[in-house]
Amino acid sequence: MERYQGKTVYKGIAVGNVVVQKSNEQQVKRTKIENAAEEIARVEAAVLIAQTQLQKLYDKAVKEVGEASAAIFEVHQMMLEDSDYQDAIQNMIQTELVNGSYAVSMIGDNFSEMFATMDDDYMKARAADVKDISNRLVRVLDGVEDIDWSTMEPSIILADDLSPSETVQMDKDKILAFVTVHGSTNSHTAILARMMNIPALIGVPMDLDQIRTGDQAIVDGIEGALILHPTEEQLQLAQNQIQIEQEKLQLLQTLKGKENVTSDGRSINLYANIGCVSDVAYVMENDAGGIGLFRSEFLYLGREDFPTEEEQFQSYKQVLQMMAGKKVIIRTLDIGADKQVDYFELGKEDNPALGYRAIRICLKQPDIFKTQLRALLRASVYGNLSVMYPMIISAEEVKEIQKIVAEVERELDEEEIPYKRPEQGIMIETPAAALISDELAEMVDFFSIGTNDLTQYTLAIDRQNQRLEDFYNPHHKAVLKLIQMVVDNAHKCGIWAGICGELGADQELTETFVNMGLDELSVAPSMVLKLRKIIRAM
Ligand code: PEP
Ligand code: MG
Repeated sequence: MERYQGKTVYKGIAVGNVVVQKSNEQQVKRTKIENAAEEIARVEAAVLIAQTQLQKLYDKAVKEVGEASAAIFEVHQMMLEDSDYQDAIQNMIQTELVNGSYAVSMIGDNFSEMFATMDDDYMKARAADVKDISNRLVRVLDGVEDIDWSTMEPSIILADDLSPSETVQMDKDKILAFVTVHGSTNSHTAILARMMNIPALIGVPMDLDQIRTGDQAIVDGIEGALILHPTEEQLQLAQNQIQIEQEKLQLLQTLKGKENVTSDGRSINLYANIGCVSDVAYVMENDAGGIGLFRSEFLYLGREDFPTEEEQFQSYKQVLQMMAGKKVIIRTLDIGADKQVDYFELGKEDNPALGYRAIRICLKQPDIFKTQLRALLRASVYGNLSVMYPMIISAEEVKEIQKIVAEVERELDEEEIPYKRPEQGIMIETPAAALISDELAEMVDFFSIGTNDLTQYTLAIDRQNQRLEDFYNPHHKAVLKLIQMVVDNAHKCGIWAGICGELGADQELTETFVNMGLDELSVAPSMVLKLRKIIRAM
């Protein structure tokens, strides 16, 4: 038995077998080899295996998302066969007597840079693909297996770190728990774990090279511990705890259908946060009154190209229809910072959290923004849609957004495409927006406070930095003062204000938030009934 201590992101207990997931961008070591011909043969065999993997991915994608979206795996197969690429790898092995993984990685980088500097947009976009196929080849050469989600039993995922794009691609039904060596409790991967209701630990000092896929483990999200090769006694204890947790959940079910009202008659809306269409199931299961934050950027992650207007329209329409008239607040894309997507070509930044992200991208690249707005407006007729804009810092930005929305409305009018003008609000997640919330309140229909970023920017603490976990304090007086200021300014103008950051689910503050006058809390679906219980007991 080995026990590792980490930090809990989402409480809960899981028992199962582990799957070790190594990073896509693994460190490749350079080693000297003796026999170039043998190494070249190993690379050739790896190319064949990679081809088979890509064929399987293609077949799966054709069934699930259609031929057009699956075509990328065909492109990857063709690129793998490219003789210039293969010759360059073989040449490097022969002349420098280096290992195959190193040669593949170096040549992959060179080709990728070459594509990136080309003028033609199509060729430019191939830079990420060469990187992708090279990473795949390196994984095959190093014996790192791809997870086959279709055949995998529900498992505990152990990883060095997980990016939001890796997480959204996972099959949620197959994940019993997440455990990572790195990561922070406020990262989007942690947020996704909470959303999916999956026990998760971060900062666990395990050596992934020493752990085998298939080893048995317990994830104890209450104690923040990972127990590998548990004893019979530990397994029994964990099973008992799972039973107790399930009984507690069962008790909460009695609160379904009840109002979120305090004993002295004050009420608050309890909505849920989602990241994709299938999350609506959790929203319903937990009896949330609406969706307070649909992080639409997750539709852009884990893919090779922008989602089309039609693809987005279908997703928004489905969510609106399933919510059958209940409020659905969709946030326009908040790409950038930790949510990186190759095809946006954002480039490397020294301070990505302070960089080119969210509404800044939308205002600088209005074509991307307009595609999303068209999809949103077209979907508006299928339910009760509100739209909100992230990372606002000024009234000028709001005016600019209004101008672009008006342009899109004009285009739709001309094309005689029906839409209903949605309620439009902004996220208050920068100190600048909070401090001018009196002015902003006159321009919009509602405020939704993003406490994750508001805390990050108010305290000057990177929410992604694991070393700063103890400093990241969303209970800080400065954050709470800003929240009160935003609520008061909203109410003076007759608009509503809610919280959609993780702090909204902090049970220690529920009473404070109701007393502050917040109109809405939007939280992970699994937290809705827990908060309802506190509010009704107030
Ligand atoms: C926030 O910043 O609180 C928020 C809800 O947005 P995100 O966590 O996606 O940055
Ligand atoms: Mg934010």
